[in-house]
Amino acid sequence: MGQTLFVPREVLEGEGRVAASPDTVKRLLGLGFEVIVEAGAGAGSRLADAEFEKAGARLGKAGDAGGADVILKVRRPTREELAGYRKGALVLAMMDPFGHEGEVAAMARAGVVGFAMELMPRITRAQSMDVLSSQANLAGYRAVIDAAAEYDRALPMMMTAAGTVPAAKVFVMGAGVAGLQAIATARRLGAVVTATDVRAAAGEQVASLGAKFVMTDALKDASGEGGYARELTEEEKRAQAELIAGHIAKQDIVITTALIPGRPAPRLVTAPMVASMRAGSVIVDLAVERGGNVEGAQAGSVVVTDNGVKIVGHVNVAGRVAASASLLYARNLFAFLETLVDKEKKQLAVDWEDELVKATLLTRDGAVVHPRLVEAAAAAEGADDEARAGGRRRRAAPAGARGASRKPATRKSRGEN
Ligand code: NAD
Repeated sequence: MGQTLFVPREVLEGEGRVAASPDTVKRLLGLGFEVIVEAGAGAGSRLADAEFEKAGARLGKAGDAGGADVILKVRRPTREELAGYRKGALVLAMMDPFGHEGEVAAMARAGVVGFAMELMPRITRAQSMDVLSSQANLAGYRAVIDAAAEYDRALPMMMTAAGTVPAAKVFVMGAGVAGLQAIATARRLGAVVTATDVRAAAGEQVASLGAKFVMTDALKDASGEGGYARELTEEEKRAQAELIAGHIAKQDIVITTALIPGRPAPRLVTAPMVASMRAGSVIVDLAVERGGNVEGAQAGSVVVTDNGVKIVGHVNVAGRVAASASLLYARNLFAFLETLVDKEKKQLAVDWEDELVKATLLTRDGAVVHPRLVEAAAAAEGADDEARAGGRRRRAAPAGARGASRKPATRKSRGEN
């Protein structure tokens, strides 16, 4: 008798992605699962119920989660969702655990075995499970498309009988997965592209995409652990700011993607830098949900500054390309789940000592088990109990929700998020 796997419709408003595709349903059946997909789960990704059925899934309703051994999700389950899950069920999702320790503790209390896909180690064996890369790639692409849509001039140079339209100048800050895809996309649209990063290794990758790498001599290399960036020293920050200030005033479009693991996003573009850009220029801050690279960016809004610069702060940018993002995410999930199954016996067989399991496992047997979360969750649990006991504790607003110092015109992001 096979084990049951459930794919719910995401409950977070504006989340159009889904954790399975007809392709992965077929593969999941091959692993021996009975697959139930909640009706309408794929609607936001243009995956019709009939397609899931054709692939061999049974259509179900939210309540079917209660009988499932495995639940595949995009977002961390809410407390309401958790209340309907079976103890011991495996739940795979992008859990966004840091800063949400109380929610992780709730998962432990619900007795589910929670895996955070974004904590997957970036090693060769796990490349196909790397949700950060699959989603950042699409976010980088979409950032350029969003910028082009907001920009009221053309991106490519056009030589016409009526005159020449100059190519737009695009500057990409942070040349990791999202940044490199942004560079490639902007180049394909015919823009003149420059890019910067604090990791020297990024320079070659930028050049290989046909963009110019902009870097100051004062900043040789700020590569940190695991190929990520480290935070800059004050002196390095000053040198970088000087370099950017000179460059940015000449740019038409700026895309920022800079992140430092475990830290708020570095502030790279200051209000005076924004003020130095000409009217009609566009800045897209892909780091807005992590505190923002750009002063004045607002999560979920397009801000228009006094000097006519648009600062785009869409959230869940990968979700703005939901149909593509879901297909890649579903494959990431399948690749990991496959390692948790005994293919001969066609049943779940989690190797708790496997490094991928150890790195991603958040909760098991009623407890928070991830080393980085154990302490923090205990503290949050205490705070939660206090709140339940009557104290009305306000959570600190996320850094990304910080408003601009002035009050520029804002427009809410379009419905997708
Ligand atoms: P990230 O999302 O953590 O950061 C985005 C970029 O911002 C990085 O390139 C970082 O160097 C840059 N940055 C940080 N501070 C900056 C600052 N002050 N100014 C300018 N730029 C700044 O990074 P990521 O996209 O996840 O990629 C990080 C690294 O991991 C890269 O070396 C990438 O090639 C590598 N990677 C490896 C694998 C794998 O081996 N499977 C998969 C994906 C990425």
